Amino acid sequence: MTATSFIGYSRGVHNGPLSHATNPATGEVMEPGFASPSADEVESAVQLAAAAFPAYRQLPAATRADFLRTIASEIEASIDAIWTRGTAETGLPEARLRGETARTVGQLRLFAAMLDDGSWLDARIEHAQPDRTPLPKPDLRSMLRPVGPVVVFCASNFPMAYSVAGGDTASALATGCPVIVKAHSSHPGVAEIVAAAVIRAAQQCGMPEGVFSLLYGGGRDVGMTLVKHPQIKAVGFTGSRAGGRALMDAAAARPEPIPVYAEMSSINPVVMLPEILAEKAPALAEGFFQSLTLGVGQFCTNPGLVFLPEGSESAFLEKLTSLIHDAAPGVMLNAGICQAYLDATNATAGHEGVEKIASEKIPALGQGAPVVFRCNAATFLQNPTLTHEMFGPASLIVTGTWEQITAAANSLEGQLTASLHGTTNDLAAAAALMEILERKAGRIVFNGFPTGVDVSHSMVHGGPYPSTSDGRSTSVGTMAAYRFCRPVAWQNAPQEQLPDELKDANPLRIARMIDGKRCDP
Ligand code: NAP
Repeated sequence: MTATSFIGYSRGVHNGPLSHATNPATGEVMEPGFASPSADEVESAVQLAAAAFPAYRQLPAATRADFLRTIASEIEASIDAIWTRGTAETGLPEARLRGETARTVGQLRLFAAMLDDGSWLDARIEHAQPDRTPLPKPDLRSMLRPVGPVVVFCASNFPMAYSVAGGDTASALATGCPVIVKAHSSHPGVAEIVAAAVIRAAQQCGMPEGVFSLLYGGGRDVGMTLVKHPQIKAVGFTGSRAGGRALMDAAAARPEPIPVYAEMSSINPVVMLPEILAEKAPALAEGFFQSLTLGVGQFCTNPGLVFLPEGSESAFLEKLTSLIHDAAPGVMLNAGICQAYLDATNATAGHEGVEKIASEKIPALGQGAPVVFRCNAATFLQNPTLTHEMFGPASLIVTGTWEQITAAANSLEGQLTASLHGTTNDLAAAAALMEILERKAGRIVFNGFPTGVDVSHSMVHGGPYPSTSDGRSTSVGTMAAYRFCRPVAWQNAPQEQLPDELKDANPLRIARMIDGKRCDP
C-alpha cells in the first residue's frame, strides 16, 4: 500500500501527519500509516476536478456507462484484497464484505443501465406556437445537467456500498460530475484498494484526469476545506447528525451556498397492531430481534423504536426478553462508535420510568451487546431525548393506548423508514396513523422490518430532517442521481445548438415528453 491520497492520476507525498486504522476486534494498530494531504494537495485535487468537469460532462452517456462498468469489474478483481483488509479494519465478517462488494458493483451497473436508457434525464420538448394568443409561445426544451464537482464523505458503517465507489460516487459520476472522496479513518486500506480500482478504470476508459480523487486526513480540516471550496458544487455524506449538520451549515454559509445531501440519524419506528400481535407475537419478536441485531445494529435503518398497544404486548415481550438474554455481543466498527453506543444506552437507562432488558453476556472491549428498553407512552412523550439515535443494537419499546401511540408517532422527527405490522383489519383501522407515518418517513414498510435496503429504481432511502438534510432526495437507488443535477431549458435554440437528447431526430432513441405527452423512441 502507498498510503497516500490519490490526486487525480498522481499520488500524494508522505510528509503529512500519519493516521493508522485500528483492528476493532483486537485493538491492534494496523500498518501502514496513511498520510494527510497538504493544503496544496487538497487544492490540486479540487483544481483537477474543476478542470475535468467541462470534458467529463460532455462525454456521451454510453462512455460514462462504460466507465462505471469498468470500475465495477476492477473492484470485482480486487475482492480478495478488499475482504482481507476490510475484515481487519472493520470487524465485519468476510461474508458481509463480499456481500457489500456485490452490492457496490451492482449499484455501479444499475447506474450504467440508467445511462443507457436515457429517460432519467427527463428530456422535454415543447414546440413553438407562434400564433398563440395573447402571446406567442417559444420553442422550449429542457433536461437535467450535472452540477459540477461533488465531494463524497465515506460512511464508517458501509466500507464499500457507501464509501469510495459507493452509491454517492456512482450517482455523481453517472450524471457527469467529477468526484473527490474524503476517506473515513476507520477503513483507509479498503479505501486505497477501491480508489486504485477506480483510477485504473478511469485510465483504461480515457477519462479526463481529475474525474476522481481520494483524500485522506482527519481532524475535520480536509472535509471542511472541500465543502467550503468555491469549485465544489454539492456534497454527499453519511454519518452523525452533528457532522452532517456542521457540513450543511458550512455549505449554507458560503458566498455561493451549495446543497449537502447528508444522511444522518433515524430511529425507524415500528408499530405492531393488536390483531397481528394476538396471532403471531413470538414470530414478530423473532423478526424484530434479527433486524435489531443485524450487523451489530450499525445500520441507519436499525429499528430503534417500537410501539405496542397496551394489553397486547406480553407474548411479544416474553419472547423478545428470552432472545435478548441469550444474545451474544458483537464487535463494533471502531472504538468511537462503541463508546458512543455505551453513552447513548447509558443515557436512556438513566431515565426515570425506563426499564432495561439486557443481554446476560458481558461484552469484551470493542463489543456492543444488544439491549432493549421499555417505557410507557406518557414517559416517552415527556422525554424528547428518548427519541435520540442509539447507533448499535439498541431499541426502545413504548406501550400505550392507541391515542397515545398516535400522539407519540406525531411527535417524532423525520425518519428514513416507518414499519407497520398488522392484519387487514388492523391496517384498515390504522388509517390516521398511516397518514402520520407518511409525513414522517421516506419509506413505509408493511409487515416487515426496515433493515435491508434494496438498490433499485423505486427505492427511497431518505426522509425529512434529521434523517436526511433534504427529504426530497434519496441516497439509494437510481433516483439518487437527481441530487447532482439541475434542470436547464433551451429557448428557441437552433437544432445544431441542442444536446442530442433534445434534437427533433432523437438520435439517441430515448424516451421524452413531447408537447406534454410521454413518447417512447
Ligand atoms: P462522523 O463523525 O459524522 O464522521 C463522518 C465523516 O464526516 C468523517 O470523514 C469526518 O471527518 C467528517 N466530519 C464529521 N464532522 C465533521 C465536521 N464538523 N467538519 C468536517 N468534517 C466532519 O461519523 P462516524 O465517524 O461514521 O461515526 C460517528 C457517529 O455517527 C456514530 O457513533 C453514530 O452515532 C453516527 N453514525 C450514524 C450513521 C447512520 O447511518 N445513522 C452512520 C454512521 C455513523 P474526520 O475524519 O475529519 O473526522
